[in-house]
Amino acid sequence: MSQDYKSTVFLPRTDFPMKAGLPSLEPEILKRWDDMDLYRRQREAGKGREKFILHDGPPYANGHLHIGHALNKILKDVINRCRQMTGKDAIYVPGWDCHGLPIEWKIEEKYRRAKKNKDDIPIVQFRRECRQFAEKWIDVQRDEFKRLGILGDWDNPYTTMTFAAEAQIVRELGKFLMNGSLVKGAKPVLWSVVEKTALAEAEVEYHDHTSTTIFVRFPVAKAAMPELEGAAIVIWTTTPWTIPGNRAIAYGGAIDYALIKVERTAEGGQAAAGQTLVVAESLLADMAAAAGITEYGVVHRCKGDDLAGTVCRHPLHGNGYDFEVPVLAADFVDTDTGTGFVHIAPGHGADDWELATRHGLPAPETVDGDGRFLDEVPLFSGLHVFKADEPVVTALRQAGALLASGRLTHSYPHSWRSKAPLIFRNTPQWFISMDKTGLRRTALEAVDKIRFFPPSGKKRLRGMVESRPDWCVSRQRAWGVPITVFVDNKSGQPLRDPKVLERIVEAVEAEGVDAWFTSDPSRFLGPEHAAGDFVQVMDILDVWFDSGATHSFVLEPRPDLEWPAALYLEGTDQHRGWFQSSLLESCGTRGQAPYRAVLTHGFVMAEDGQKMSKSLGNVVSPQEVIGKYGADILRLWVVGSDYSEDLRIGPDILKQQSDIYRRLRNTLRFLLGNLNGFDESERLGESEMPELERWVLHRLWELDRLLRRACGDLQFHPLFTELHNFCAADLSAFYFDIRKDSLYCGRADSPTRRAARTVLDRLFDHLSAWLAPFICFTAEETWLARNPGAGESIHLRQFPEVPEDWRDDVLAGKWLLIRDVRKVVTGALELARADKKIRSSLQAAPVVFADSRYHEVLKGVDWPEICIASGVEVKAFDKHCADNNADLFSLPQEVPGVAVEVRLAEGEKCQRCWKILDDVGGDSDYPEVCGRCAGAVRHLMAAAK
Ligand SMILES: [Zn+2]
Repeated sequence: MSQDYKSTVFLPRTDFPMKAGLPSLEPEILKRWDDMDLYRRQREAGKGREKFILHDGPPYANGHLHIGHALNKILKDVINRCRQMTGKDAIYVPGWDCHGLPIEWKIEEKYRRAKKNKDDIPIVQFRRECRQFAEKWIDVQRDEFKRLGILGDWDNPYTTMTFAAEAQIVRELGKFLMNGSLVKGAKPVLWSVVEKTALAEAEVEYHDHTSTTIFVRFPVAKAAMPELEGAAIVIWTTTPWTIPGNRAIAYGGAIDYALIKVERTAEGGQAAAGQTLVVAESLLADMAAAAGITEYGVVHRCKGDDLAGTVCRHPLHGNGYDFEVPVLAADFVDTDTGTGFVHIAPGHGADDWELATRHGLPAPETVDGDGRFLDEVPLFSGLHVFKADEPVVTALRQAGALLASGRLTHSYPHSWRSKAPLIFRNTPQWFISMDKTGLRRTALEAVDKIRFFPPSGKKRLRGMVESRPDWCVSRQRAWGVPITVFVDNKSGQPLRDPKVLERIVEAVEAEGVDAWFTSDPSRFLGPEHAAGDFVQVMDILDVWFDSGATHSFVLEPRPDLEWPAALYLEGTDQHRGWFQSSLLESCGTRGQAPYRAVLTHGFVMAEDGQKMSKSLGNVVSPQEVIGKYGADILRLWVVGSDYSEDLRIGPDILKQQSDIYRRLRNTLRFLLGNLNGFDESERLGESEMPELERWVLHRLWELDRLLRRACGDLQFHPLFTELHNFCAADLSAFYFDIRKDSLYCGRADSPTRRAARTVLDRLFDHLSAWLAPFICFTAEETWLARNPGAGESIHLRQFPEVPEDWRDDVLAGKWLLIRDVRKVVTGALELARADKKIRSSLQAAPVVFADSRYHEVLKGVDWPEICIASGVEVKAFDKHCADNNADLFSLPQEVPGVAVEVRLAEGEKCQRCWKILDDVGGDSDYPEVCGRCAGAVRHLMAAAK
């Protein structure tokens, strides 16, 4: 009687599809999470546990998400989920940054396109439009973030523009006002004449810019030594338009200077024979060449310090610039380029301003917000600074002060928004002093207590805090929280009255920031102060102050959160942005940092390492990846990358990720298929399991340790590589491969099959949980395939505990050797198959020659099972092997001392398990199969009756 043996084989059975179809599957899972209110369910599950608060750095609400947003939020989500699954209550409140220039700019653009002037629009209406713009993009971004699988309190996010947030920002600023660290000053700030505002350092980009360069003579009026009488000091600058603002000249005390007498000049040269000029000796030749001086004699040499006390005249002396220009020592002067003298315009440079202030020199305001010279500037009033270079050069030439002019392309600050070149402009601004009340010292002490991932972040933030200037917090714009300060007309000092502050806070809380701009000042000043005695400040706050204060209106007041946060996590650029503004705001008001740890990640580059740009066509958008591959692929990319450096993404990398995904999915599918109908009664105790199963459990123990370490160190890519290798190499190519025979063909109640199914169940339990923070959609799909039910979610689970007694180092060492031997056998069988000697490994019965180091290991191992062969003969590796090496297969480098000869198995082929064995036909009921298979079929038939 011939049997249909195929139906007696336990082939894997599952509805879990091979192809994921993530782009359409993920939205279904999202809907399920929404319906079951997964975030709320997690909070219930986590009630009473220790809280973990990752405080979200607010993205700016002004456009679709780009790949950098995706990286940032996925990393946050992975960490939150890992914390939740390691026994914490990971509460995550996402937020948005809403005020500031980018949105204001967009609304202005809209008006410009409609040929309307922004200044004609009522300011309240303008701000309302900014608010609506932000609201629109918050909704868009919220959906896009959710689509990435980011779990958080999306129904109750925070924004910097709620009235409550605005009021708290006013209150926080009030703390700086009251303690005396908010000060009014005039200082050159980087200024955009296009946006008409001061820019923060984080808003500045450096690009190449071609400038006019000039060499200018400053005639000596008061000589510190007789040789200087009648001479002129030569300066060089790349910003001729700053000459009207010149008030001093700086030299380096240790620099060698030379006094030269011009003897002959080239035709058309600006220098004249007989002139005496002072320049740094090392730059003398360059200057002479530029100025067309063909012959000269060095009359005198001196050190910079010898020049102390010298005073020059302004080169435009006699044209309204009739003041003295002192020559001062400064340590920022060098001899890299120029003349070794720096022209000092205190209103147009940070170094200039500091030097002038130290010497009590004025820092005149020469330029208005549009970039035009003020009326009081002689010769140039009303001229735009970007058009002033030529007129200045002409005036200098006419005054006989110009020695040479030229062009230079160099790196120059530009606005990140309008891309327009910036200028340093002296403006009245509000500052938070770094030193007046010890803010710098407090902040530096706080930095020392913070943990940084990677650790290099500490030095970076520390260095920035150490050297940063006072924080310029004022902006001359409309869309933001006002600097709610009144300045006393007489004293010029800000009014520090807590009652006034409280009235302002109350008004903003009820009506938003419009209250400040639309109310009569008496509303805030109250009966105590006469409105006529004060000027109301109409500047708004730097948005970095808003976001720097999020801890005060998110972490502190929300009962579900905690202050300080456990972690802030953003791109490395935030050392000078949010990490720093939050640190300073909090140290200035609370004396400590609002976070205990900081994690920074790199930027996302294109596949070839280039910056992504529309013109290069290498931009990868998260929406595109999700549409083509699914969010889980993007998440895999994040956890598989070393985020501490810049990350790369592009078509090839995404293809690799999707291959990795397929391998993970196949592993999960194998587990589901072979656990079909698994019953608790099949479960076998670990002590009764074969060594192979115990080895798998040991690997689970190892991986569990790695997982917990990764969750502690917040570094996932080494873990992820290991998890992937485990699935691909340890399971698919080894354990599953070996156990297919028992799983498919073994007797249902055989100990090997029961042990295997018990371990598969463990594997499913662990792998599905371990993958949950990473590929959150697929993990859910997997979990539901095995545990269908309305309230079920893998994301309500924790990482399963791994019993300590799964660890077996001795066994692990032994199986390393076994796998080495197997590698040689597999190699030999593959070669035989390629040579068409065999079609399947089951046709072979290889002979393994192994030297003494393997003898112990080889004993008691079911080698045919391990090698998936019909038989294996083990022999000693002796001289005979060495001599006949040519006929044997070996991997002498990788696995020395092992060689394999492939021989064909002898016997009959079992029609059920396809092994070639000599007991096929031994059972008269089932003559086509081997003894094991006959038993299995008989057992199956009996069970079916
Ligand atoms: Zn068989």
